[in-house]
Amino acid sequence: MALQPPPRFCPRCGHAMPALVPGEVLRCAERACGYAWYRDPKVAVGVVVEDADGRVLLVRRNHEPRMGQWAFPSGFVDAGELLEAAAAREVREEAGVAVRIDALLGAYSEADEPVIFIAYAGSITGGTPAPGDEAIEVGVFAPDALPPLAFVHDDRVMAAWRAHRAGRDASANGTKEQQP
Ligand SMILES: [Zn+2]
Repeated sequence: MALQPPPRFCPRCGHAMPALVPGEVLRCAERACGYAWYRDPKVAVGVVVEDADGRVLLVRRNHEPRMGQWAFPSGFVDAGELLEAAAAREVREEAGVAVRIDALLGAYSEADEPVIFIAYAGSITGGTPAPGDEAIEVGVFAPDALPPLAFVHDDRVMAAWRAHRAGRDASANGTKEQQP
């Protein structure tokens, strides 16, 4: 997604907007108006979805960007929507399954990129994987045999997920060892 260009006309009073000066706030030239324009980021959420066998669910995208490539179920957060609810909604819409959101994996951003990506770990709690309107197909993969992933942050997301899973397994084992 490209950065959003500044408006040519003030959305509040209709006056022509001055040119954007990098590093400065773009203000309406009509002083009495007072409108200031900010380049707002967009927030997207995605989920590393684990099935009951410890495999990772991915969807193959049927739309740009990265059409045809494998990705975590993901999408934009609606204004007023809880992040975790948006994450679970995207998984349901794109892959046809219900998930429990287990943990926050991280938040990822990049220079000159308007999208902030927030990644969660989740577990399937119901449903059968099936592609929704935004996916060509849904697949489940062994975590060490994933196909190439679509987005620049995905390797870091998977590293965070592996660390999350290792911590969870270690604490599960620790609990077991403490039992008589
Ligand atoms: Zn104005």
